[in-house]
Amino acid sequence: MILSLSQLLVAIVTLPFLWILVDWLFSRLAERRTQRRRQRVARECHLCGKHYPEGRRVKISTCPDCDALNVRGGHRKLG
Ligand SMILES: [Zn+2]
Repeated sequence: MILSLSQLLVAIVTLPFLWILVDWLFSRLAERRTQRRRQRVARECHLCGKHYPEGRRVKISTCPDCDALNVRGGHRKLG
C-alpha cells in the first residue's frame, strides 16, 4: 500500500481529533461511573443541597443540616 503525501497529511491532521474524541469519551464514562457510585452512598438534600452519607436500604433519610426528609429516587408528587 502506497500513501500519497496528501493522504499522509490528512492522517496527521485527523489522528489528534480521533485521540481527543476517544479521550473525551473515556473521561465521560469515568465521570458517570464516579457519579453513580457517589449517588449510591450519598444523598443530596432537596432543600439545602448538602451531600450526606446514607444507608443502602434507607427509603427516607433526614438531612443533618436542615432536618428535611429526603426520599430515595425523588418525590413522586413533587418531582
Ligand atoms: Zn438539608
